[in-house]
Amino acid sequence: MKKTLYLVIPCYNEEPVIEETTRRLTKKLDQLIAEDRIATTSRILYVDDGSKDRTWILIEYLHKENPYVCGLKLAHNKGHQNALLAGLMYAKNICDYSVSMDADLQDDIGVIDGFIEKYNEGCHIVYGVRNSRETDTKFKKMTAIGFYKFMAKLGVDIVYNHADCRLMSNQALEALAEYKEINLFLRGLVPLIGYKNDTVYYDRNERFAGESKYPLSKMLKFAWEGVTSFSVKPLRMIASIGILIFIISFIILIVALINKILGNPVAGWTGLISSIWLLGGIQLFALGICGEYIGKIYNEVKGRPRYLGETFLKK
Ligand code: UDP
Ligand code: MG
Repeated sequence: MKKTLYLVIPCYNEEPVIEETTRRLTKKLDQLIAEDRIATTSRILYVDDGSKDRTWILIEYLHKENPYVCGLKLAHNKGHQNALLAGLMYAKNICDYSVSMDADLQDDIGVIDGFIEKYNEGCHIVYGVRNSRETDTKFKKMTAIGFYKFMAKLGVDIVYNHADCRLMSNQALEALAEYKEINLFLRGLVPLIGYKNDTVYYDRNERFAGESKYPLSKMLKFAWEGVTSFSVKPLRMIASIGILIFIISFIILIVALINKILGNPVAGWTGLISSIWLLGGIQLFALGICGEYIGKIYNEVKGRPRYLGETFLKK
């Protein structure tokens, strides 16, 4: 039986692009249906992330005119990640698999063919990975590479050069729904699901109209969200620094004692300087221990699933 595909597209102030995007995606769905590769119940689901321009009015219009277009309007601007999750959770109960993309179609829509192939081979998650970053500025390229390296150092498993263009099967969406955390960083979360997955490479183009909604400040906030949502290593670092200072305080104590024995002490300096370093070290170490517990509480409150069953062989 042919499967129902939902294209989930978050939109924030995308008035300049949404009609052209609909034209291109409609053509793609028409083609896939004509080739008998997806069901006629397949849809485009636009999620309006509290846009301030005419985006929602256009979605309503397209919904009337175009048999594929569905829309979900969020009450407030909650950011790309939340808008995308909202769309995926709505699609979860109606589709066999979803493909998420940006409204500006910077991600080549030809990638959908590759996604469907991998899905038919049994993959639950297929990551769209950029071939190159030629269309990005030098600065964006460098910060992006730095970010991936930093995340890898912190032990967070993210797919290199993959943004949020991916296929997720219904089962993978059900698994994603088990992650209850409020601070969303889907790029880190989806690999945690761990079901059979693969990658498909594609070219990333320039935005064909409108402006990027990710200025530097938002990008940095997003990166920080990624670090703090997935790693308690920064907390652990406090304890490590505490131990380091503790060791330094001993070295200073020995140097000060040698100075005293050699007979050239400054009055009171030995005790004063050693105790300053010693106390600093103890304080940081104690803070680090508190951090360890805060880290544990943090992991508990996220309420992530302990395990996810992928396949069950029943008799
Ligand atoms: N977006 C959103 N809410 C926001 C910001 C962005 O839904 O608060 C959507 C936006 O409409 C687009 C996608 O997220 O579909 C990616 O944004 P953009 O293309 O501006 O980011 P860039 O490609 O420049 O990183
Ligand atoms: Mg874009």
